Amino acid sequence: MEDVILVVNCGSSSLKLALFSRNLERLAGGLAERLGEDGATASAGDDQISLTGKSSHEDALAELLSHFRENELLSDQPLAIGHRVVHGGEAFRAPALINDDVLVAIEDCSSLAPLHNPVNLTGIRATLKLFPDVPQVAVFDTAFHQTLPPHAYLYGLPRRFYEDWGVRRYGFHGTSHSFMVEQAARLLAKPRSETSIISAHLGNGCSITAINNGESLDTSMGLTPLEGLVMGTRCGDVDPGLFDFLSAKGIDSESLSRILNRESGLLGLSESTNDMRTLIEQADGGDEQSSQALAVFCFRLARYIGAMMASLDELDALVFTGGIGENSDRVRKDTVSHLNLMGFSLDSKANENHGQESDHRIESKTSRFPILVIPTNEEAVIAREAAARAG
Ligand code: ADP
Repeated sequence: MEDVILVVNCGSSSLKLALFSRNLERLAGGLAERLGEDGATASAGDDQISLTGKSSHEDALAELLSHFRENELLSDQPLAIGHRVVHGGEAFRAPALINDDVLVAIEDCSSLAPLHNPVNLTGIRATLKLFPDVPQVAVFDTAFHQTLPPHAYLYGLPRRFYEDWGVRRYGFHGTSHSFMVEQAARLLAKPRSETSIISAHLGNGCSITAINNGESLDTSMGLTPLEGLVMGTRCGDVDPGLFDFLSAKGIDSESLSRILNRESGLLGLSESTNDMRTLIEQADGGDEQSSQALAVFCFRLARYIGAMMASLDELDALVFTGGIGENSDRVRKDTVSHLNLMGFSLDSKANENHGQESDHRIESKTSRFPILVIPTNEEAVIAREAAARAG
């Protein structure tokens, strides 16, 4: 049995595990959902794994690991473990080998991500208990964006909010955006440190980042992952005056948070789905609300692509990634159709082929800038960082 690297991604009620070989080939994955609720479920590939009652993250971890062992995917212990951690605040600019100080610092960032960091810590503590001698590495969603300059990360708010409570823009999806500039540099045959891109990560959560000479200089998500683009169920930017308005209508802050995070975005606008594939099918079938939701999504994205240009000295490529960015020629087409004045244009055939027949490139011959479609692989990056820092 070969040495493996374990990647752990703990969500508020979910747990995703992945096993990678030393050369970063994905060997297996496992998923547990509805943890802490009645009817928790777990699966690995096609196998269903039984969980009883309100299984916890620890229970699901133990069950999935024993499934990997039974299937001879995991021997005694992994070579290294990489954990996705959502918020590293201003404390982390890079992945960190986990020790007591790192645990305290992650805990200190919990007030910035109360739904994520505590549960990320639960995963870390569980694997530390099971594998006390295995090196473990935390990889932060925010770390790549720690190069944002103050003019990009400060809100126009009283300064004491930043100084006393750390209220600023942090940005997320950093692992994916960092991987995009690495991959774009490779495809364009340039050093990463001389590569400048606009990276649009479009999955259930969506964000866009301006990367100048390899460094993140602006990004659409802010203090939390709610700011910026319209997403599957998140609203993205709204007028902060909305909060007073809705409060006067009797919507309390807990309900408001639920609505903005889970009932808005594509789901809120279409009143039927947060899934882009379904939304496009419905729009093509004549559903007006789905058409509008798609149009809002693409227009907001196009506006942000324009906004990201303000941070760049030059632009080597606009890059699409994430489930939507990689697979939806429609979203790419409708978005780029707003950007003609800036000189972006698509080759419609290459776009429909998802860039596969054109070396990831989908721009037309007359486009001022290359446009690329690049698959993201956050798990593999976490595995690589874990292996590298574990020595
Ligand atoms: P997550 O952010 O949870 O990792 P993904 O990156 O997998 O999510 O993206 C999920 C989104 O990608 C969904 O909205 C899904 O509908 C969309 N998607 C996947 N395939 C296609 C496709 N062929 N066309 C349009 N959207 C797609």
